[in-house]
Amino acid sequence: MKTKKAVVVGGGIIGLCSAYFLNKKGFEVTVIDKGDFRQGCSHGNAGMIVPSHFIPLAAPGAIKLGLKWMFNPESPFHLPLRLDKDLITWVWKFYRAANKRHVTRSAPLLSWLNLASKQLYEEIGEEALPAFGFQKKGLLMVCKTFKVLDEEASLVTMAQKLGIKAMVLSSDEVRQLDPGLRLAIAGAVYFPGDAFLTPQLFMSGLYHRLCTLGVSFLPFSEVISFSKKAGVITAAHTKNKSFVADEYIIAGGAWSGRLCRNLSVNLPLIAGKGYSVLLPQPKARPKICAILTEARVAVTPMQNGLRFAGTMELGNAHEKVNKKRLNGIFKSIPRYFPDFKAVDFQNLDVWTGLRPCSPDGLPYLGRPKHFKNLILATGHAMMGLSLGPVTGHLVSQIACNEKMERDISLLNPSRYD
Ligand SMILES: Cc1cc2nc3c(=O)[nH]c(=O)nc-3n(C[C@H](O)[C@H](O)[C@H](O)COP(=O)(O)OP(=O)(O)OC[C@H]3O[C@@H](n4cnc5c(N)ncnc54)[C@H](O)[C@@H]3O)c2cc1C
Repeated sequence: MKTKKAVVVGGGIIGLCSAYFLNKKGFEVTVIDKGDFRQGCSHGNAGMIVPSHFIPLAAPGAIKLGLKWMFNPESPFHLPLRLDKDLITWVWKFYRAANKRHVTRSAPLLSWLNLASKQLYEEIGEEALPAFGFQKKGLLMVCKTFKVLDEEASLVTMAQKLGIKAMVLSSDEVRQLDPGLRLAIAGAVYFPGDAFLTPQLFMSGLYHRLCTLGVSFLPFSEVISFSKKAGVITAAHTKNKSFVADEYIIAGGAWSGRLCRNLSVNLPLIAGKGYSVLLPQPKARPKICAILTEARVAVTPMQNGLRFAGTMELGNAHEKVNKKRLNGIFKSIPRYFPDFKAVDFQNLDVWTGLRPCSPDGLPYLGRPKHFKNLILATGHAMMGLSLGPVTGHLVSQIACNEKMERDISLLNPSRYD
């Protein structure tokens, strides 16, 4: 019999994975979402599981590159110039974090989290989930120019020191890896330990599995406030209902900051908007997922077609599509894969997702100061799909006050207090 109750706010990848591991630990779990569990950032993303991504978003060179891109309407990055206190504070904190020391401190933890998560994907997959296109074929960082290939190659030694397999490949070697694919590139860095999957299949498979395990789901129910007493949350409230539990987990993605404000918890977080499109019958079908490095476009073979994803429009918390930036994605693809033309991508449905971005590029995971029964699990930015299972696992360990395999204090949600 389940003795303790947990309420999870947000049914994206982080919320569902938290529900999964909390259920395993014996909690009676209710997941509440303002949507229908098919919206949010976790469905139309590029589906990459990325031990290769051990450098946080806030890293040396990020500011310079951002400034270079900012005034090009077709570039993969945008930061609006507006007098918004939250945005300005976020940018200042990002600037403070974008240094070598931060990268050196964060890389071992990020690589460990991603590797552990990949392992957990395999374990969850073995548990009666329908196939979700999980492929352990690695990831290619394909480079159009030798200059950028050299820059990418400089990360190979660091990756190897962290226990991540990585190698530089010439364009011919990439062709041997994926024969039949026409390429116009200088070469690539190959990370054979990365993987990819079809996110909607994983999300719907896990949702249905959780239903059979007895997890309750409440769609179209926005949590608008909490009741609290002496450092303990006593209820979460939607417009029509209140939910009482022993543990409350905020996994509200890009909206988590808003929820935290209601609790007077300071959580610097902004949305980083991105787009994706799916070609159901692509002219060419790469076997391995790839990032077009200069263009920052992700290309992933999925169960139902070939997905292209990209752009990072910081601070835009609405889902409106910026056509120029979308065209920037479409124009970049034929430069690497000559089988495609920009027109191939016109008239496709465009998916928009809001990444939850912290200023230092690290997730927020743990109990915030002053609350004994609240866990924050958000801020995964470009790595939320990859880090979903390990985040869920750690959430369940925090809820049970278990000792963790690794020190995760860098992810402390109160680190900006
Ligand atoms: C173009 C693009 C490509 C990407 N590619 C990758 C990739 O290849 N690999 C990778 O690892 N990551 C990728 N990401 C990032 C990844 O998609 C996100 O990090 C991840 O989906 C975040 O998950 P989440 O559960 O935190 O948020 P979400 O999926 O957004 O879920 C949050 C949920 O909370 C709900 N919610 C919010 N507030 C409330 C409230 N008050 N009450 C009730 N419900 C609430 C929302 O409705 C939503 O369903 C990509 C993102 C984009 C945009």
